[in-house]
Amino acid sequence: MGIVVQKYGGSSVADAAGIKRVAQRIVNTKKAGHQVVVVVSAMGDTTDDLIDLANEVSPLPPARELDMLLTAGERISMAVLAMAIHDLGHEARSFTGSQAGVITDAEHGKAKIIDVTPGRIQAALAEGAIAIVAGFQGVSQTTKDITTLGRGGSDTTAVALAVALEADVCEIYSDVDGIFTADPRIEPRARKVPRISYEETLEMAAQGAKILHLRCVEYARRYDMPIHVRSSFSEKEGTWVVKSADVAQEGTNTMEAAIITGVAHDRSQAKITVVGVPDKPGEAAAIFRAVAEAQINIDMIVQNVSAAATSLTDISFTLPAGEGQTAMTALSRLQDSVGFESLLYDDSVGKVSVVGAGMSSSPGISARFFEALSEAGVNIEMISTSEIRVSVVVAETQVEAAVNAAHATFDLGSDEIEAVVYGGTGR
Ligand code: ASP
Ligand code: MG
Repeated sequence: MGIVVQKYGGSSVADAAGIKRVAQRIVNTKKAGHQVVVVVSAMGDTTDDLIDLANEVSPLPPARELDMLLTAGERISMAVLAMAIHDLGHEARSFTGSQAGVITDAEHGKAKIIDVTPGRIQAALAEGAIAIVAGFQGVSQTTKDITTLGRGGSDTTAVALAVALEADVCEIYSDVDGIFTADPRIEPRARKVPRISYEETLEMAAQGAKILHLRCVEYARRYDMPIHVRSSFSEKEGTWVVKSADVAQEGTNTMEAAIITGVAHDRSQAKITVVGVPDKPGEAAAIFRAVAEAQINIDMIVQNVSAAATSLTDISFTLPAGEGQTAMTALSRLQDSVGFESLLYDDSVGKVSVVGAGMSSSPGISARFFEALSEAGVNIEMISTSEIRVSVVVAETQVEAAVNAAHATFDLGSDEIEAVVYGGTGR
């Protein structure tokens, strides 16, 4: 009898009806002969509402207390879900992250899991109960304080528990049927991907596809835990995230399908250009040291060859738009010491990426992608690549056209409308 870990996101448990519907699914899984461990997120937008409340009370809430507050959201869902399961005639017990043995470091708001000791979960399963665990939280090994894993962290709780319990699979339920070749909201012909590798999923998630929490995929890859991404609103088979050898094994006969897996986009980026940087050693180092010290994660960097006459060059880079002001302030302090001419800031940009494991052995992907963009009249501002990804920065108004063009040129579309978004706004 195998262990199944199921994680239900906020939109799946948004109200009493949702809780009851999820309870029925859980009971069905149990009746099918599995031992079931469930990880829940806070109901609907509870976490955002709690953050708003904290900000109304205090301009800068202490991180320890904010974590204590936010973990309450998941505790509500776990308790009412256990009640709903009881009403269906089955034994269910809820546990906080701490009770479930999720041990973390002491970084409030972005704690990392360092150990999972699920003794109480195993005991509950051994007694035939369904275990319900509050997602996105743990307890610090050193301070014994309650911590949270960062927004969207319930996915990571689920995978970590699945690994610790040696589960057969970690099922992640949301309001869409799986991982799609593009965001169905802007690409109506998006197709569900039946199987995708951890590496491709990481690239898609890092490039803005709102599929899974990045850290949960890293965790699953490290321990080779298969993830089944599916909808709690339908019975359809979703997307399996597995190791690349298991994707290839499927032996899809269309060569094309294997080269590009999907198109991701991200509208949350901004671009900073440092204009007229003296072309000599140490200038880029000084610029990016300042950005790093402001704790800003940058993404793409482009430096032009300097015009011979001026020996000045421009350096552009992208970063999350939310951190734009901090970066501009840090950089303007450098203007005199580095001696650049000016700073430009543009947050009406977006990033569009094509991802596919097959691209490393298949030349011409960039050419084809750029041709498609050109035919769609999309201007490319920046380019970056990895082994299995090509990304471009374009004007925000052209993101949609760029996604559609890439999707079409790599024949990713299906003939029928496959994508249904059942629930609320996210997970
Ligand atoms: N409730 C938390 C959030 O909204 C954690 C999660 O949903 O995974 O970020
Ligand atoms: Mg949530």
